[in-house]
Amino acid sequence: MYEQGPIRPPSEASSLLVRVTRNCPWNRCLMCPAYKGTTFSKRTVDEVKSDIDVMAKEHGPYFDRITSAFLQDADTLIIPAGELLEIIKYVKMKFPNITRITTYARAKSMKKKSVDSYKALKQAGLTRIHTGMESGSARVLKMIKKGSTPEDIVTGGLRVMEAGISLSEYIMPGVGGKPLSEEHALETARLLNIIRPDYIRVRTFAMHPKSPMQKMVKEGAFIPMNDEEIVAEIRLLVSNLDEMHSHFRCGDFSLNLLMGVDGYLDSQKDDMLQELDSYLSLTKRQKQAYSLLHRSGHYFHRPIDLVNDKKVLDQVSNDIERLEKGAEDGFDKYIHELMSYQLPQPQTDDWT
Ligand code: SF4
Repeated sequence: MYEQGPIRPPSEASSLLVRVTRNCPWNRCLMCPAYKGTTFSKRTVDEVKSDIDVMAKEHGPYFDRITSAFLQDADTLIIPAGELLEIIKYVKMKFPNITRITTYARAKSMKKKSVDSYKALKQAGLTRIHTGMESGSARVLKMIKKGSTPEDIVTGGLRVMEAGISLSEYIMPGVGGKPLSEEHALETARLLNIIRPDYIRVRTFAMHPKSPMQKMVKEGAFIPMNDEEIVAEIRLLVSNLDEMHSHFRCGDFSLNLLMGVDGYLDSQKDDMLQELDSYLSLTKRQKQAYSLLHRSGHYFHRPIDLVNDKKVLDQVSNDIERLEKGAEDGFDKYIHELMSYQLPQPQTDDWT
């Protein structure tokens, strides 16, 4: 038997999952259900090595087909660099065909390690760090209790980049709500232009029904955005990003409405803006139809002009009208509900 954590990035679907720590040491972000109701703990190097031994045995004659590993859970860089080096070297010894080892890390922990530590980790085999910056706006980060500042994000990100480790920054359109939308887009673009990460992965905000943000909505402290407003926010963000060699990715996450907005900023920025504009120039009913089709789960990666087809539009118009008549903001509320189904479940009913 060996331990496995609950989540990993989509790009690590076929990676060996090595659990180095359990859960999230921060666990206070208001928009994140992933580890709520769980307790963080570190594992000893011996415990992790013993898991790796079991995995090597289990994969038996096929161990040479394993070419990548992901170190779990939410913030592996919280452990000392020496321990991490020992674990990475052991993974590579037991699975010699592994050429890619990646992990999640919080900006606060990323900032605490030196460029020399990162260089040593890279030398040992750490190839990529995935980190959730969510926003570049200090006000948004504070509102969602992210526990990191723009300065943490930039310092940590630049150190990783300087050491030559690939960096994936995750951003969350919509998480600032309506009043902070513009600031969220502009400040996120500003920080990304400084860090110039290899990947900018878009994770459109969806609110879990148990999230404390629901209370903020009732009190008027958070005003959720609809799909059209979030696409406009992404457009503002993309238009303010430099034409750098970063892969702007919407295509790897189905909560992103326009999964076709996906490409390198130095060669495909205009294409991405064009895709965003194609959606923004649709009529209100066409936008609603596209949202409903995408959010109902059967039309991922479908071209925007799908809703230029009258037959398609007619198919969903009755549903849209019914939702609009049912309640104030009935359509947007239904879309938000559909989006929330895609979130991980917290391990508690008392998420405060
Ligand atoms: S977003 Fe990351 S840091 Fe925040 S609670 Fe979730 S796993 Fe922890």
